[in-house]
Amino acid sequence: MKISWRTILLWSLPALVIGFFFWQGAFSPTAVNMGSNTASTRMSYGRFLDYLEAGRVTTVDLYDGGRIAIVEAVAPELDNRVQRLRVDLPGNSPDLISRLREANINFDSHPIRNEGAIWGLLGNLIFPVLLIVSLFFLFRRSSNVPGGPGQAMNFGKSKARFSMEAKTGVMFDDVAGVDEAKEELQEVVTFLKKPERFTAVGARIPKGVLLVGPPGTGKTLLAKAIAGEAGVPFFSISGSEFVEMFVGVGASRVRDLFKKAKENAPCIIFIDEIDAVGRQRGAGIGGGNDEREQTLNQLLTEMDGFEGNTGIIIIAATNRPDVLDSALLRPGRFDRQVTVDAPDVKGRLSILEIHARNKKLSDEISLEAIARRTPGFTGADLANLLNEAAILTARRRKEAITMLEINDAVDRVVAGMEGTPLMDSKSKRLIGYHEVGHALIGTLIQEHAPVQKVTLLPRGQARGLTWFMPNEEQGLISRAQILARITAAIGGRAAEKVIFGDAEVTTGAGNDLQQVTSMARQMVTRYGMSDLGPLSLETQQSEVFLGRDLMTRSEYSDEIASRIDAQVRTIIEHCYEHACQMIQDNRIVIDRLVDLLIEKETIDGDEFRQIVSEYTNVPEKERYVPIV
Ligand code: ADP
Ligand code: MG
Ligand code: ZN
Repeated sequence: MKISWRTILLWSLPALVIGFFFWQGAFSPTAVNMGSNTASTRMSYGRFLDYLEAGRVTTVDLYDGGRIAIVEAVAPELDNRVQRLRVDLPGNSPDLISRLREANINFDSHPIRNEGAIWGLLGNLIFPVLLIVSLFFLFRRSSNVPGGPGQAMNFGKSKARFSMEAKTGVMFDDVAGVDEAKEELQEVVTFLKKPERFTAVGARIPKGVLLVGPPGTGKTLLAKAIAGEAGVPFFSISGSEFVEMFVGVGASRVRDLFKKAKENAPCIIFIDEIDAVGRQRGAGIGGGNDEREQTLNQLLTEMDGFEGNTGIIIIAATNRPDVLDSALLRPGRFDRQVTVDAPDVKGRLSILEIHARNKKLSDEISLEAIARRTPGFTGADLANLLNEAAILTARRRKEAITMLEINDAVDRVVAGMEGTPLMDSKSKRLIGYHEVGHALIGTLIQEHAPVQKVTLLPRGQARGLTWFMPNEEQGLISRAQILARITAAIGGRAAEKVIFGDAEVTTGAGNDLQQVTSMARQMVTRYGMSDLGPLSLETQQSEVFLGRDLMTRSEYSDEIASRIDAQVRTIIEHCYEHACQMIQDNRIVIDRLVDLLIEKETIDGDEFRQIVSEYTNVPEKERYVPIV
């Protein structure tokens, strides 16, 4: 297409010039009529009469109804050579004819040739036609140039930004650990494959399914799997692609999308990150956003505009269902909400199995152990973990991934890149005491998770780290457990203070204190675990969604607010004292552990417990599965 437009344009320019000349001269009727008799020299009418009188004219041919004459005359001054001259006559004069007859001159009259007239007409038309055609192509071309002058005229016509994939290549087998969501969506596949089974009993097929869950849990993957299983076209578009600078473009994209989908039904429309368009209307600072609201309105209208039985199912994904417009969530639009959550230990195992398919693992590796080590990891985290391990293996020039690489990869995914070891210095000693403080208290308190390892190798933002064994899916957390966590978290600062004194404590405890405060505050305001009694004073702290949440923030009086603060302070002070006491009581073993830590950089949990147990009683914590 493109090439031929350009060729036409290129050729039309010279044609235009040629056409112009034809138009000007060659095709004009008078010239054509005279054919080969064309005379180049003109002679005035008066002169012609003189020649006639003098008997010098031999032949006269009349053209154009007697208005033009080609005259052959003898020129005595040029050795009687015959000249051909053209004479414009003043109209058709019978007078002239009779004079020619009298003088016995050979004369003839020639009619206007029809063929010539057609050519003449064409000649007259060619130039304007070419002009119009060339202008048309010039305009077309310039409007195809991105950002060209024609672009502004074009913005309303949306380009199809959504992509249609007939085969996504993803099957339900490629998704694991989200069994409930999978089951729910398997039903959607049945809707698409055997709609009659449902319509026969009068069931209305749902129009929309909303996948809700944190990032990386496999929402996009699930949507692709549905398309792959159902074997229908899959239109995918991201919510942000509807949002445009020009008002109305997003809405026209929605229209285009649904139009295409209807042509290809049965099919699936997948709108990823729908919160970009589907936000509560009229919300946010400064009121609504016209463009987004028009787009959303169009989406709502389109969703109402077709029956579920047409075979279009809309799947949308979001990790912020709280900001979605309530109109989107009412029955008849996204009737079904499917929660896709971070997987449990079994789910993680099956996700690891999927992603280990194409990796070379050494025999010693137990995917189960990895699954146990990684609570809270999403599918994307696990995929990333195995990939990091494979990269490390390649870097270390090993044949297959070993547990060593896996462990390093977990540390890296959780805590960031490993830094260079600290130089021996007073600050390294202080960090050693800080970490051993966390680890010792975690070991000595019955309710706390056991230490997995203590290290002075910096990682990410942290200068040193104490890893505790993850406690898998125990669900409910008791008051004693939260207090244990607060005490261990503040144990780093407690060690700094007891050993180096008030003046030497560092900013290294900043993060710890933030966690401590947040845990204590939640005990008071959400879980009713303080002297204020069993009251819920705050809902879960999430990002404030301005315009909706701002109004309902403060649920208690100022008096209660100061009592909350007092309770939080009491809890933290109590834990801090407890921690300082434990550090003082175990000074000897702490000194030994810090020396060992500075020498070895890392102490693992078993060795740590072994050393501590030589000095004091270490409680058994059998609920925790040790890591291989
Ligand atoms: P999101 O929920 O943010 O849309 P994605 O579906 O894009 O997450 O997941 C990103 C990647 O993580 C996938 O391509 C896949 O490799 C991996 N992944 C996530 N969840 C799963 C899962 N449940 N099973 C297998 N792989 C998963
Ligand atoms: Mg996604
Ligand atoms: Zn700390």
